[in-house]
Amino acid sequence: MNIGVLGAGQLGRMLALAGYPLANRFTFLDTTGHPSVGIGEVIIDTDQKHLASFLEQVDLVTYEFEHLPVPLVQAIEEHKPVYPSSEAIRVCQNRAEEKALFDRLAIPTPAYRLVESAVELEAAARELGTPVVAKSVTEGYDGKGQAVVKDPSEAVEAWRTINHPRLIVEAFVDFVREVSIIAVRGRDGEVVFYPMAENQHVDGILRYSIAPMPDLDDGVQQTADGYIRALLDELDYVGVLTLELFQTRDGALLANEMAPRVHNSGHWTMDGAVTSQFENHLRAIQGLPLGDTAARMPTCMVNVIGREGEAAELLALPDAHLHRYDKAERPGRKLAHVNLLAPTHDELLERVRACAALLPDAPAPRFSFD
Ligand code: AMP
Repeated sequence: MNIGVLGAGQLGRMLALAGYPLANRFTFLDTTGHPSVGIGEVIIDTDQKHLASFLEQVDLVTYEFEHLPVPLVQAIEEHKPVYPSSEAIRVCQNRAEEKALFDRLAIPTPAYRLVESAVELEAAARELGTPVVAKSVTEGYDGKGQAVVKDPSEAVEAWRTINHPRLIVEAFVDFVREVSIIAVRGRDGEVVFYPMAENQHVDGILRYSIAPMPDLDDGVQQTADGYIRALLDELDYVGVLTLELFQTRDGALLANEMAPRVHNSGHWTMDGAVTSQFENHLRAIQGLPLGDTAARMPTCMVNVIGREGEAAELLALPDAHLHRYDKAERPGRKLAHVNLLAPTHDELLERVRACAALLPDAPAPRFSFD
């Protein structure tokens, strides 16, 4: 099976690494001119002239990046199966569509308003009560295209900074922790769920994910499973879907956003789960049985951002697994991650702190249960 992947970054790289044991081959279509995948065949298509040769080579198509023109994906669907479908991309690349879907499926979210001017932004800030978070409805990722408005008088400045014709304005959630749920749906509609992860973001960028959480109530996991199952079934989805949520003091979950793909908060599964998110995505899209999602041990994923540490020092940590993306160092750039495993959460936190100390610029790890 030759799998076509739209996008050619580290997520595609890790998909391919998981697919080689299944005798999959990979052809990546890169529209940016800066592929970093480093393996498989890469077709650089900045001028939109190579789609036909990409389609000739592949049996089915998936993606590692959802900010793609929907008409392009729809055109590909005319020729080859695309999993997840273009409908998933259409919804997930637009925060307004995403929130409307959450509302329709009764998945709770922070209170929000859609605005199309600085005046409307100011009114929304007054109505919702500050602080609010304003986000461009499209093209935002890793905290880009966002601003926290602490007072309605800051609306004009925020509108100017974000510089986008349509924003979603959300009440600021005083969360206890940020969590994510990753699930996989097969072509036959079978769904499996990974244990939820607790995620620490700094400046909008994920730094640490830990799973399973030591203090997670079964009922909360089941609630999250129910939310993501509703999304998967509604979209007739095939593959891995990620839903990021806020957990509030009373244990409730509020959906923040979703990603129609393998996700950074699921990288822990590469070493910490029986079957990784990458392998399960490939199993799903090829109509193969889905693998066990159970965690082997408490696991923490530590992102390596901006500058790399010494590989030899990181690998000397017990049960540490370094996954490098073979990318050049640049501030804010995701370069690698380290998965750390330990028999108990206490030992795991010790290893996480030791790992953070080896990484230049790593923020202090902070977990809600620590
Ligand atoms: P997003 O791009 O929507 O995932 O936002 C990036 C980060 O900003 C999140 O991971 C949160 O840390 C923070 N954030 C986003 N929306 C809110 C909100 N409504 N309330 C509090 N924090 C938020």
